[in-house]
Amino acid sequence: MRILVLGAGFGGLEIATLLSDEFGADLDLTLIDKSEGFIFGFSKLDVMFGRSTPDHVLHRYAELVKPGVRFVPATIRSIDVSAKRVSTDAGDFGADIIVVALGADLDPAATPGLVEGGHEFYSVAGAFALRDVLADFSGGHVIIAVTSTPFKCPPAPSETALLMHDLITERGLSDRSSISLMVPMAVPIPPSPEASRILLDTFAERGISFHGETLVRGLDPDRNVARLSGGDEAPYDLFLGVPAHRAPQVVVDAGLTVDGWVPVDPQTLETAYPGVYAVGDVTSVGTPKAGVFAEGQAVVVAHRIAAQLRGVDPDRRYDGHGLCYLEFGNDAVAKVDVTFVAGQPPAGSLIGPSPDLVTDKIEFGSTRIHRWFGKQWDGATS
Ligand SMILES: Cc1cc2nc3c(=O)[nH]c(=O)nc-3n(C[C@H](O)[C@H](O)[C@H](O)COP(=O)(O)OP(=O)(O)OC[C@H]3O[C@@H](n4cnc5c(N)ncnc54)[C@H](O)[C@@H]3O)c2cc1C
Repeated sequence: MRILVLGAGFGGLEIATLLSDEFGADLDLTLIDKSEGFIFGFSKLDVMFGRSTPDHVLHRYAELVKPGVRFVPATIRSIDVSAKRVSTDAGDFGADIIVVALGADLDPAATPGLVEGGHEFYSVAGAFALRDVLADFSGGHVIIAVTSTPFKCPPAPSETALLMHDLITERGLSDRSSISLMVPMAVPIPPSPEASRILLDTFAERGISFHGETLVRGLDPDRNVARLSGGDEAPYDLFLGVPAHRAPQVVVDAGLTVDGWVPVDPQTLETAYPGVYAVGDVTSVGTPKAGVFAEGQAVVVAHRIAAQLRGVDPDRRYDGHGLCYLEFGNDAVAKVDVTFVAGQPPAGSLIGPSPDLVTDKIEFGSTRIHRWFGKQWDGATS
């Protein structure tokens, strides 16, 4: 049974690891990715705010050695879901099972003026470039805003606002600076009223102005103003934006998407095509786009593939559960425990914020890097 895993992010790495652990050299799994290595989403914030370095947070695929797994560094050019064939710039691959784990692409140019007049902090290049911009920041009005939905890791703009507040305070820039946070949700973390209340109280205490149900539709770089979804304008000195997200074009061209994303069975992660699964940000499975959910879905898909390899019935189904860490500034971290089940309102609770959870978050990262890459990593900061 030939298994092709497209994309070695949170979802793809988890599937390859679980199946390699279970079947060793008997496995025939090919993992394809175009990037140099894996970088946690939260590591982008660490680099941007000068808490870590690009080299420290990059986990190179060249270091990935797993029995039964062949890593192919290549760009996927087309996916034929009926014939189960994939073409890449390193050749063509046939498979019995395909897992699409290609994540979400970012499109900063879709927001007029963003590239010319602002900065996006969601791509690796964008976040890493902001390291120098923030190091040179000498005060002013900062807008942190979302430009379209859906977007990855919905708490990340709130974390960015709190870390920006730390930076401004530590540099003694408070008297000439202010922060506005603009997100499409009414509250920062809709599934958890408790987490939202604590965040809103914290924003108020730290003088961060929160604007819910607001998107930034465009920037006017000549006047340094952001155009808001409600029709108003907001002036800024520094604009940090979450760019538009799209399914990778190769996934759209394969005919896998409906309304922009790949529909899957929310319990089994099967697509409409037999033998083709999809996990993580590329799907419209109903959970937020976040690594912890991609990982949870990957566990179910690995289990179902393993059952198929063993010729038994799979019994594990996806439960929509995830545990996300949230940077709170002031050297504290919180943990949000959320569950999304189709047809039911999402439920969530908050643990912390607490300085003790900083170690918890570091362990979250280091255990995954150890399992996926077989190496020690001392966590979020250098
Ligand atoms: C600032 C920020 C902070 C975040 N913080 C958190 C957090 O604290 N917790 C959390 O759970 N999530 C967080 N996230 C979200 C998290 O990073 C993503 O949701 C997660 O990585 C999605 O996993 P995935 O496997 O679906 O896709 P990805 O991890 O994005 O992997 C997709 C892979 O596909 C590859 N690929 C794409 N197209 C091609 C192609 N044509 N050919 C070959 N390879 C291709 C890419 O190179 C990539 O490696 C954060 C994101 C950001 C931006």
